[in-house]
Amino acid sequence: MSETRKALVTGGSRGIGLQIIQTLLAEGCEVWYLSRSKAAELESELVHHISCDMADRESVASALETVVSEAQEIDILVNNAGITRDGLIMRMKDEAWDDVIAVNLTSVFLTCRRIGRLMATQRKGAIVNISSVVGIMGNGGQTNYAASKAGIIGFSKSLARELSGRNVRVNVVAPGFIETSMTEVLSDKVKDTIKTQIPLGRIGNTEEVAQTVAFLSSDKASYITGQVLAVDGGMAM
Ligand code: NAP
Repeated sequence: MSETRKALVTGGSRGIGLQIIQTLLAEGCEVWYLSRSKAAELESELVHHISCDMADRESVASALETVVSEAQEIDILVNNAGITRDGLIMRMKDEAWDDVIAVNLTSVFLTCRRIGRLMATQRKGAIVNISSVVGIMGNGGQTNYAASKAGIIGFSKSLARELSGRNVRVNVVAPGFIETSMTEVLSDKVKDTIKTQIPLGRIGNTEEVAQTVAFLSSDKASYITGQVLAVDGGMAM
């Protein structure tokens, strides 16, 4: 395998995914990322954007084939793309359920099936799937999101068992409240209430999540698989 590690990240046009790509680049990786929009911040010959709607199976399948043919091998897969469509269950529309499950969970199945097969052939690889503290603790108004994020945890532990014999590790990072466009919609009052539930007393930043992803995807974590690492200021301890 080449010395430059090759990574595939879903999402990545902003927020946590963008920071993950920047951190992996700083660690000497070449990165392919799949999202609908391209990040202006990522102008480097070591970054390749492939336009992809993670909710659309055909779009994902075609993007994955492009990545595999360009990269030939993939050392790191990070499933980061995610959305929220919040609402109480009584009023939740079918689309709000279907969209969240498609982007947050089915896309993880699709990428892990294709890239997991490649990693199994390589007999080397690290997969990091981004869940959420909400997948561990639940959250009123987010039954769809919590189901998708809890699903990622069960999925990843099962996959870790399936791929362990091929030297492929699978882990989960479960962020708490992190400052991104996903959380900037929250009012200051809601943020203040949230802070009272965080032992470290503050909202986290993307760098704190990205460093954890970089660690789990590196050889420094060579004896870690099937784990859920919460980066949440102690919320879910
Ligand atoms: P964000 O700022 O809203 O970014 C979401 C990313 O996902 C974007 O790059 C977006 O790209 C991509 N994405 C969304 N829908 C997509 C689709 N249909 N096809 C392709 N890409 C799509 O969110 P974030 O806060 O960085 O969240 C990143 C991950 O962390 C998510 O899985 C989220 O659930 C998780 N998380 C976040 C927090 C938090 O507090 N921020 C906490 C726990 C977990 P395009 O729009 O360009 O397609």
